[in-house]
Amino acid sequence: MTLVELREITQQYPGEARPAVDHLSLTLPSGSIVALLGMSGSGKTTLLKIIAGLLDPSAGDVCFDGVSVKHLPTEQRGAIMVFQNHLLFPHMTVAQNIGFGLKMRGVPRPVIDERVAHMLDLIQLPGLGHRRPTQLSGGQQQRVALARALIVEPRLLLLDEPLSNLDANLRDEMRELIRQVQRHFGITTLVVTHDQQDAVLLADHIALMRDGRLQQFGPPDALFYRPVDEQVARFFGGVNFIPGAAVEQLIHAALSTLGAPLPNTPGEVVLTIRPEQIQFCDPIQHPQALPGIVDHCQFMGTYYRHAVRVAPLSTPLIVHSHAPITAGTTVALCLPLEHLWVIAAGSAT
Ligand code: ADP
Ligand code: MG
Repeated sequence: MTLVELREITQQYPGEARPAVDHLSLTLPSGSIVALLGMSGSGKTTLLKIIAGLLDPSAGDVCFDGVSVKHLPTEQRGAIMVFQNHLLFPHMTVAQNIGFGLKMRGVPRPVIDERVAHMLDLIQLPGLGHRRPTQLSGGQQQRVALARALIVEPRLLLLDEPLSNLDANLRDEMRELIRQVQRHFGITTLVVTHDQQDAVLLADHIALMRDGRLQQFGPPDALFYRPVDEQVARFFGGVNFIPGAAVEQLIHAALSTLGAPLPNTPGEVVLTIRPEQIQFCDPIQHPQALPGIVDHCQFMGTYYRHAVRVAPLSTPLIVHSHAPITAGTTVALCLPLEHLWVIAAGSAT
């Protein structure tokens, strides 16, 4: 279990207009699994390489358990990185691949055999040690790469997009395996992904990166329900953004009847609410509900997605529900106060 602190890390690649990582500070709690989430090019791989010691940052410090490891070479840091394109040694068997790190450390053969067998069980590939990597599926190779990294009992596990080459079923399995293995060893783990669903399902905490900066860090539900800005909200599927002016004209009046805590400066805020938290309701029972007209309704597989026009909003509110409501129907919408979230306006999309 290792507490990892990144302090004001900056990485400026020569000749690049802007830094790939920009004054980024982040703490990975000891024994936790953290997802490093962000779009392609946001600096995730660069940051992983810096933590692993594969890249010396332009500025900033990396500390493990409060001690700087900045001047330690990769092999002395004990942070092991598993790359997106897991490169197994093709001329070795699966067992030899997994045991490679122990062999390099001069561990006796019987101990290696025993630990490799244990790892094969753990990654649910018992008895496949004699195969060559080419005789395994992509998902199985991914597991072997994970086992090969874990067998040396690193202080820190760094996984770069371990799920991105897998199809849906294998993704679920691999996610489960990573969690299971992480719990088994209690190892501090940083998993890079560009997929918010993977991040939510995998991690204790999510670090969301954009353009080399840390946008938000917290438990998955915090980023989901309490985004710091509109970009974060959109990244997590937020679609309803009600501008301050409309808040004043429309929602202010409706909300004030309920004694809601209202923004002091409505012009400078945006109100957001997730589509699954808006409810269709009976206007007689809920006189403060917002009147609207269903613009269109689409079946999404497990729910119906409605676009509802609500004057004076220029864009329809998106509302999810389990029953369809036909286009053209006049409806009343309840926006439960506990689900409304106020964010600063002007955080561009
Ligand atoms: P991510 O893993 O989030 O996709 P990267 O860390 O790979 O992002 O890249 C971040 C930015 O740094 C990108 O703009 C990329 O083009 C640039 N970059 C990455 N590696 C290098 C390099 N070796 N030399 C120059 N620029 C690089
Ligand atoms: Mg990358």
